Amino acid sequence: MKVCKRCLMDSSDKDLVIDDFGNCNHCNASIARWNSAEFQDQTNRKVQLNKWITQIKSAGQGKEYDCIIGLSGGVDSTYVAYLVKEIYGLRPLAVHLDNGWNSELAVRNIDKILDRLNIDLVTEVLDWEEFSSLQRAFLRASVIDMELLTDHAIGASLLKISKRFNVPYFISGFNFQSENIMPPTWIYPFKMDSLNIQDIYKKHGEGKRIKSFKFLSFKEFLFFGKNKMTLFPILNFVDYHKETAIEVISREIGRQFFSCWVLVLLLKIRRERIQIKFFCILNLLHPLGITAVELGYFFCNAYLLHFLVIHPNPGKKSLKKHILM
Ligand SMILES: [Zn+2]
Repeated sequence: MKVCKRCLMDSSDKDLVIDDFGNCNHCNASIARWNSAEFQDQTNRKVQLNKWITQIKSAGQGKEYDCIIGLSGGVDSTYVAYLVKEIYGLRPLAVHLDNGWNSELAVRNIDKILDRLNIDLVTEVLDWEEFSSLQRAFLRASVIDMELLTDHAIGASLLKISKRFNVPYFISGFNFQSENIMPPTWIYPFKMDSLNIQDIYKKHGEGKRIKSFKFLSFKEFLFFGKNKMTLFPILNFVDYHKETAIEVISREIGRQFFSCWVLVLLLKIRRERIQIKFFCILNLLHPLGITAVELGYFFCNAYLLHFLVIHPNPGKKSLKKHILM
């Protein structure tokens, strides 16, 4: 069994090739793209960024909002909110999807961000009974990505809000620095298609009719971010580093918000110890033929199962204060 020393991907991915330095082809492709002119030509990135900002401001003239941003309370989306409002002077409307998994800390953070940056919010609340039933069906099906349900719901919500407020620009927190290294063999291109979700629920669900979960049509899914609503991944056009972003957010948003990032930093400090424990377990299971990826998958599913079965609806506190309904 070959394992990449950088990302821990192993040869359960049939396309994996490890080089003489122990790095895999996925890591090398990602590093090569990061070193390309697309990300390293700072002048061109700045020109592109200014072009986008001018275009969004111009299209938004006379409207209450000129762009939509997603807000989860995490680092990426918080930094996008800060950049968009404080640095580039746009007038964003924030959209938050409450799928029942919000922690109270996340809700407090979102409240703080909205208050500090003076941003309006629309919260889309999913029906917990139905959504958890869909998630249980995905667990039973053992498919590659349970989060696609939330991602699909986010997409449908963004399109709905974009139409409702007549705002065609969505500024996303997607960034090449911390995402985009998924092996192609793990990605089924139509995994987020509504037909796929409905089929999985039909085969592995609890026999109920899906009533409230909003599906994207095939056309909306295929042209998402390219047609009715234009997607702009702003973090790919600025010099984005997570550690610096955490510092800026902590300083600009306020001390209370910092408590969340302390947790992130503590996790970073503890990361090496966690890795050691992970490898100890892995060494024990290795003779049984259990890989790092399978073990990681097991822990993720066990964690989700714990909440779905033992602690239903962990996030009960909603963002009522900022709902524009
Ligand atoms: Zn790798």
